[in-house]
Amino acid sequence: MTDGEPSAQDAAPCPICSRPADTATTPFCSKRCRMVDLGRWFTESYVVSSPMPGAADEAKDEGASGDDPETPR
Ligand SMILES: [Zn+2]
Repeated sequence: MTDGEPSAQDAAPCPICSRPADTATTPFCSKRCRMVDLGRWFTESYVVSSPMPGAADEAKDEGASGDDPETPR
């Protein structure tokens, strides 16, 4: 006979605090955790995209300095 059967634990747990997720805020357990995840996501994207514009600008500057056949004047 089956003793322990997970019934209400079908949904994946909250990725922030690992608590059972709520249907209204799935996959998070609450609005707060959803905001936490959003903020984390936002901060990460901010950090990742920060050094990119600078590097691209430098590379562009170097290319413009020399002979660039792909740059229509
Ligand atoms: Zn949570």
